[in-house]
Order: sequence, then C-alpha cells, then structure tokens
Amino acid sequence: MIEQLEDVLHIHFNLKHFRTGQKEIIEAVIQRKDVIAMLPTGGGKSLCYQLPGYILQGPILIISPLLSLMEDQVEQIKQRGEKNVVALNSSVSFMKRKQILKQLRKYRYIYASPEILQIDYVIEALTEANISLFVVDEAHCISQWGHDFRPDYSKLGELREKLHNPPCLALTATATKQVLEDVRQILRLNHDVNTFIYSINRPNIAMSVEKHQTIDDKINRLQQIVYTLKGPGIIYCSSRIWTERLAHILFESGMEQVAYYHGGMDQEQRILIQQQFLYDQLNIVCCTNAFGMGINKGNIRYVIHFHFPSQLESYMQEIGRAGRDGHKSVAITLITDTDYEIPKSLVESEFPSYDDLSRTIHFLQNKHEPSFEFIQQWCGLTETQWRYVEHAYENLSNFSMDTEQIISTIWKKIEHRIVIKQQKLSEMCNWLRDEGCRRKKLLAYFDDILTDQVKNCCDACGIDFHCYHEEQNKDNEKLDLNWQEELKLIFGKASD
Ligand code: ADP
Ligand code: MG
Repeated sequence: MIEQLEDVLHIHFNLKHFRTGQKEIIEAVIQRKDVIAMLPTGGGKSLCYQLPGYILQGPILIISPLLSLMEDQVEQIKQRGEKNVVALNSSVSFMKRKQILKQLRKYRYIYASPEILQIDYVIEALTEANISLFVVDEAHCISQWGHDFRPDYSKLGELREKLHNPPCLALTATATKQVLEDVRQILRLNHDVNTFIYSINRPNIAMSVEKHQTIDDKINRLQQIVYTLKGPGIIYCSSRIWTERLAHILFESGMEQVAYYHGGMDQEQRILIQQQFLYDQLNIVCCTNAFGMGINKGNIRYVIHFHFPSQLESYMQEIGRAGRDGHKSVAITLITDTDYEIPKSLVESEFPSYDDLSRTIHFLQNKHEPSFEFIQQWCGLTETQWRYVEHAYENLSNFSMDTEQIISTIWKKIEHRIVIKQQKLSEMCNWLRDEGCRRKKLLAYFDDILTDQVKNCCDACGIDFHCYHEEQNKDNEKLDLNWQEELKLIFGKASD
C-alpha cells in the first residue's frame, strides 16, 4: 500500500517523499474515512486530497473560500499536466456552468465556492456525478465566517448529506480545539472522526513585535524595513484606504514594484495583482486580509502587519504566507498604543447597530423586495451587515414570530457573536503586550507545544535581523563592473 502511494506521488506529482502527516492522512482518506487534519501553513495540504484523486473512483469536490485561490489552484494543477480540473464559482457564466455540469463526471477535481453549492441545479448535477471525496479547504473559515458573513459555510453539512454523504476531508493550518469542534459539528461529522493534528510551528519564520510612539514613526520604520529587507513581502493593513496610502508612500520613496490589493477593487484587477506578485513582477503588496489566503508563493521573505489582525488565527495564517520554500523569513508587527482601539470598532462594525437592525427588519416584515442597494440607502447597512441580517432573518422564517421578537432574537445573537469576537481580540492584544517567548505563546493558543529551540525565534528570544537583509552591496558591485572585469568574473582569468 505504502509503496503504491509513493509511486502515485512520484508519477503524478514528481515528488520523492511524503512530508510529515501527508501519508497518514491520505491513507485514511482512501479508506473512505472522514478526516479532520491540521498541518502547518505551506505544509502540503493540497496533496492530501489531490493524490487520492488518482485512487478513488469519482470526482473530488473541493470547497474553497476564495475565487482567486480557486483560480490559482486550478492553474497549478493544470501546470503539472492534469487537465481534468474545473472551478465552479460566480465568475463562471450561466451557459458555461450548464456546459460544465453536463459532463461533471469527467473531472478529477471540481473546485467550488460555498455559495455556488447552494444552487439546486448544481447540487443535482453533483449528486449524479458521484462525488468520491468532499474536501473543505481552509476549514477554519467554517467557524470564522460561517456564523457571520458567509452563512453558506454553515450549510455545508446539509449539503454533504444531500450528496449522499461522501467521505469528508477538512483541512486547516490554524484551528483551536474549539474551532475544530465547530468544524466537526457544522460538517455533521461523528465524534470519532479521524483527527490528525501535527505541529503547526513554522520555525523558519522569526516573529517580531515593535512598539512605536506615533503613526509617523511606524511609517518611517516601514520604509526602513522595506528598504533593507530582502523581498518579496506582504504588508497587511486594517483598511482599504491604508493599503492605498502605504503603497503610495512606498512608491514615492522609490520602491517601484509595489501595489495595493483590497476587496473594493474589481475581480480582474485583483487577480492581476495576485498573478503579478506570484510571478515576481511585483515585490511588495500592501493589502487588507482579503489578500493571500492559500496562495502558493514560496519565496515571500517577510510579512509586515502595519495593523494587527483581530485574532491569533488570522495572525498565524497571515505570517504563514512567508517562507513556504523553507528559507528564513520574518514577520514584523508594528504597533502604537492607539492601534489597540482600531480592531475593537472593526469587530463591532461587522454587525448592524440595534437601530439599523430594527429598521431593516421592519422593512423586511412589510414584505418589501429586499435589494442590497435599497437596504444600504434606507437602513444604513454595509454589505457584510446585510448578509448577516438576511441570513439570520431567513433562519427565523419558519417560526411564527412578530417583528419585535425577530429583532430581539437576532440582536441577542449579534451580542453573543460580538462577545466571542471581542474575546479573540483580547487574546490577540494580550499576546502583543505579553513578555516572554512569542512562539511558545502563539503555539499554546493552538494547544501546540514548542519542542525544539528555534534560531531567530522572536523579539523576546532575540533575532539577528542582518540575515534578512538584501545583499545590496553585492548587486551594486556587480553593476559597477566594466566588461573586462565581468569577463574575468565569468571565466576566472585575466582578460587583458
Ligand atoms: P498548504 O498546506 O499551505 O495548503 P500546499 O498544499 O499549497 O500547502 O503546498 C505547499 C508547497 O509544498 C507546494 O509547492 C507543494 O508542491 C509542496 N509540496 C507538497 N507536498 C510535498 C512533498 N511531499 N514534497 C515536496 N514538496 C511538497
Ligand atoms: Mg492550502
């Protein structure tokens, strides 16, 4: 059995050995067991469902959270010579969708967004195609988003049942025990589901938190970092406007290969930036957390948090985009005291205020056709808030409640979600404020233990920043050589 798996690995993936955990997970998958698996960022989770594609009968369905991520994975699979792969998402036209659905059985891998999997004719076609494995990639999203603004995530368990319960593989790099339990419940997996948990430590990523007095100090420091550290790099900000502002500042100070990326840009623009970054045409991307999930770029050398994320799960995900090639990389978080105030209001702003909620529910109860534009204008909701309310309202439609009861039920839920999110935020803040080894504490949050000493571990344990510097002098020397000297260098002898 093991040799057979190694053969498949060699023949289809041109790889010699399995990485930690891969073989065990794949063995369980091909025995048609339900599996929840946690491997580090960049640890090779894709292989855990792609390899069984050559062993199991019937297409593998992969539920993937982001369009750009899906496109990227489909592209990578095609590049290794596998043509039977397709992505089903909102960007695929109706006609094209119909065409794909007609011949679904021929695909080895079908990528799909949770939203598209709510459409009846898609479910019907998938049921007929006899899905052999139901994969949820980035499964922590179920817990992180499913409750709030991607409600279709919370319906995946129901969907799996509709597809006649194919075996399930849920993959993540960042889940606490609580999140894993949430994933298990939402996917309706048994208590005794096979759970494979490996250390998610990324020893090649140094972690540093730097405290600054003012925002200007942070900007100055950012410029200095970007100028001295070897790229490519990602800079995370908490708002769209900041991504643009920082990209502009860096561009003005002479960094040319810099761009910004956020959810307010149109799809084409976003895919373009992602591709340019993947293919080394861009060196720095200033972005919101909309960027980077699951992207497979090996050589990212640093991740800077100009603003820190609202939970440690996101921090772990975001820094994990560095150093996937195994080479040393660094994650730097820049903070001022006032930064602690920003995420708090961000958490609250994901949900409507009581007044906005009340206005919206009254409006819906009066049987108006709910259009987002109208809601936005008259009830003051953002798109995220509207998605939350729409879903919560829908869920209550089977109960006979009057308007006030509906409002108070939803409001209670909102208060509960805010409490949970504030807790996660304070854990993030405590981690930033704490003294002592950051790695140890971060891993402890995920119930993971640091076993080996790590060189260049964190700011508390000590980091030698010089080893992350761009070797500028060498490049300059090279540029200054005249042609005779260059020949000397190439042929190793005097050319005169
Ligand atoms: P993640 O766990 O973050 O989803 P990926 O599946 O994208 O990671 O894999 C990261 C990189 O590791 C990819 O370039 C992949 O080809 C490579 N990889 C995966 N498994 C192996 C292996 N057994 N040997 C060598 N490289 C591997
Ligand atoms: Mg992945």
